[in-house]
Amino acid sequence: MFEKILIANRGEIALRVVRAAREMGIATVAVHSTADSDAMHVRMADESVCIGPPSGAQSYLSVPAIIAACEVTGAEAIHPGYGFLSENAGFVQVVEDHDLTFIGPTAEHIRIMGDKITAKDTMKKLGVPCVPGSDGGVATLEEAKRLGEEMGYPVIIKATAGGGGRGMKVAQNAGEMEKAFLTARAEGKSNFGNDEVYIEKYLTTPRHIEIQVFGDGKGRAVHLGERDCSLQRRHQKVFEEAPGPAISAEERAAIGKTCADAVARINYTGAGTIEFLYENGEFYFIEMNTRLQVEHPVTEAIFGVDLVREQIRVASGMEMSFQQEDLTINGHSIEVRINAEKLPNFAPCPGRITQYHAPGGLGVRMDSALYDGYSIPPYYDSLIGKLIVHGRDRPEALARLNRALGELIVDGVDTTVPLFHALLQEEDVLTGNYNIHWLEHWLETNLGDG
Ligand code: ADP
Repeated sequence: MFEKILIANRGEIALRVVRAAREMGIATVAVHSTADSDAMHVRMADESVCIGPPSGAQSYLSVPAIIAACEVTGAEAIHPGYGFLSENAGFVQVVEDHDLTFIGPTAEHIRIMGDKITAKDTMKKLGVPCVPGSDGGVATLEEAKRLGEEMGYPVIIKATAGGGGRGMKVAQNAGEMEKAFLTARAEGKSNFGNDEVYIEKYLTTPRHIEIQVFGDGKGRAVHLGERDCSLQRRHQKVFEEAPGPAISAEERAAIGKTCADAVARINYTGAGTIEFLYENGEFYFIEMNTRLQVEHPVTEAIFGVDLVREQIRVASGMEMSFQQEDLTINGHSIEVRINAEKLPNFAPCPGRITQYHAPGGLGVRMDSALYDGYSIPPYYDSLIGKLIVHGRDRPEALARLNRALGELIVDGVDTTVPLFHALLQEEDVLTGNYNIHWLEHWLETNLGDG
């Protein structure tokens, strides 16, 4: 086992990793920009190293600075959290070249899953069901139009290198194809330096269902069920739950096994998430994330496992601490993402926290790096906390969420908390009757956000 690890991240996720490491008796090194000198992850880690100015590009994304911080402190392994360098195959290669361990999958797996055409092709060969669409890239507008006619509209044109909802355009009919095709290509080129695109059937009322998988890198893998993350704004998740209210035990077992078998066959290491759209009882693969997800705590709650601890164990060469038969679901869990944002337009709202009180009690977990007097810097994303509740069933989890939101105090900045109070009044949210478009429609109708 490692004696010391470095955490190449900030905020709540850096703190999350510090906590797992401390319980395992592993020392931690925090890295931080000059804007984060007073951040909680810096206070809580055993050591810290300033790695650059506020801009992410010059600090949390600076590979030489992070490698140097490992060398100076003697850290043996790097946990990347999510975002920043977590899905950067080039970084993983540099880490390995310096005889350090990356706590995550191999550079090769990150590369395969980072290119959506290659990812889809790989998954198809591994027996994972995919959205019907083009066989690989589509080079010309003529071919795109021919495919549109063949598949039937609407279709979605996606940049193979896309991410974060960018590089995706929907064509409702043949007349919209030219613009959608050229825009998706241009966005791929300008945002990701790659103009290759492919085409998929556009599903009109799907849910977003993702399967958590975990592999030991030696051909053994398990699944930890699904999360329903359909409540999204601009393709960003805001409310996640497990198990999914629309998924039966039989469906879970079948798609879970398909996913676990697929990642076992490629000797996948560590945590991964296989994302699907789910419509009319069918699953359609869209992409795989080769890292820990923001919403991993809902899975931890219902399975009673620590996914970060497991990542560290497997990266150090130890066996996974569970097998598929050990993994049984207990109750229901919901996470809401608390962002420093001002409604109705979700404008980022950095600033000083004058008062902070975290909710507590049975079945409540607050993952946040906030404290009284903390100043949220304007340079990074606006997630300031995740409130996760766990109950014996969905109604109990919803009641607990309502109760916990009522206890939470975050003064000094605007947050997305009022959104969740309002959503908990909605019949569709209470009954789990929603799809990936539900929240956008609700926001338009109720807040005029569009
Ligand atoms: P990104 O990597 O940018 O997050 P994804 O491929 O994961 O892109 O898709 C993000 C979201 O876009 C999905 O959660 C879904 O809301 C929507 N989406 C993607 N593909 C389709 C499709 N074929 N039909 C309908 N919606 C889609």
